Amino acid sequence: MPTHISNQRTFDVRFPTSMHLDGSDAMNADPDYSAAYLRIETSDAALFGDAFVFTIGRGNEVQIEAIKILAEKIAGLEIEYAFENIGEIARELSSDSQLRWLGPDKGVFHMAAGAVLNALWDLFAKSRGMPLWKLLSSMTPEQLVATIDFRFISDALSPAEALEILQRGMADRAKNEKILLANGVPAYTTTPGWLGYSDEKMLKLSQEAKDAGFNLIKYKCGKSLADDTRRLTKIRELLGPDFPIAIDANQVWDVDVAIKWVNALAEFKLSWIEEPTHPDDVLGHSRIAREIAPTPVATGEMASSRIIFKQLLQSDAIKVMQIDATRVAGVNENIANILMAAKYGVPVCPHAGGVGLCEVVQHLAMFDAIAVTGHHNKRLVEFVDHLHEHFIEPTKILHGAYLPPQRPGASTQMIDASIAEYDFPNGNFWQTPVGKAHAIKSKMTSSHASDKNGALS
Ligand SMILES: [Mg+2]
Repeated sequence: MPTHISNQRTFDVRFPTSMHLDGSDAMNADPDYSAAYLRIETSDAALFGDAFVFTIGRGNEVQIEAIKILAEKIAGLEIEYAFENIGEIARELSSDSQLRWLGPDKGVFHMAAGAVLNALWDLFAKSRGMPLWKLLSSMTPEQLVATIDFRFISDALSPAEALEILQRGMADRAKNEKILLANGVPAYTTTPGWLGYSDEKMLKLSQEAKDAGFNLIKYKCGKSLADDTRRLTKIRELLGPDFPIAIDANQVWDVDVAIKWVNALAEFKLSWIEEPTHPDDVLGHSRIAREIAPTPVATGEMASSRIIFKQLLQSDAIKVMQIDATRVAGVNENIANILMAAKYGVPVCPHAGGVGLCEVVQHLAMFDAIAVTGHHNKRLVEFVDHLHEHFIEPTKILHGAYLPPQRPGASTQMIDASIAEYDFPNGNFWQTPVGKAHAIKSKMTSSHASDKNGALS
């Protein structure tokens, strides 16, 4: 009998990362890295698909409610039917005539669509016994094009153009896969650069990152120009004049401020300024790009959809495109984003970090390297060394590169014991005095009743 989707379970998983200021930047002072986690179960007890939306704490319960509502739409589907019709499913998840009012194509429901789709992709890859990067780069150009919702982007990328880009890549797929297996894809790191770290800690971690072979280090900035200048001066002294460094303002500036601030740091030869202003302000990014040239602008971790990316590319606003695995509507929309970037000649340097984002997004970079733009040194995948131990297949980094995961699936699956420990508010950690005090201090709330099947053991 064909395998079908039989049940959905959700978990409100929160890690108390703000206790150590990991992840602190100019905008996000105290993130508690969290996952609005979905597991779709099937009629085969051994086969299930996992995915999550990354959040930074409060509101994780809202994200879960949206995921539950959208996951209902795939209840009962046969897995092979879902694979054959994944483009249609993606379109339907974004087309509910009432829910669409709460978007469209942005925010909690859009990310929830991403969770449902990513859980399905995890399921497809597991059911075929291959990692997601391998599944995607084994699909025909026609199959890949059929996954994409071209609504609102066809003026920038038509189905015929997408097909042509993928067909062009066919000849090199085997060669590119061999290179991937041998060398991985190049990574950069943000681990040393959090704003809450002392100069000593930042410099110590920077030296370690350079020694470990990372190709670029990124530093948070934007609270004080004097602080940024001091930090970058020390960093340049340590790393030398040519080691690639980038900075990230996490949207803290207005456009005029961004232009002045970044120009004041021009002497540090920055590889890019990331998120200089609000992610929806496409025209603002475009003006910043013109007025701070040659320093390149990067953005994308909060670009809510392919439509924002389309405009950023059309208006020459970015030189680096930073897709995120859980911000948009899943693998499908990111295939569209990667193909648009290829058409416009902009490298995709995926955003990662948080909890699990490195694990998930590496598959998309590897697909890009095999089937779209090939191997080149402009694609650097972000790496942050937090919370990998909670996944059944943590990222593997060697000599500053991500090595391809081997286990079947999308690397989305968390260890059951970690889910049980950090499930909010009933998990073991959150029931300790320290956990309870942290939740009160952080004003965390949850409307998320324990899953109907009870917590994982
Ligand atoms: Mg960033």
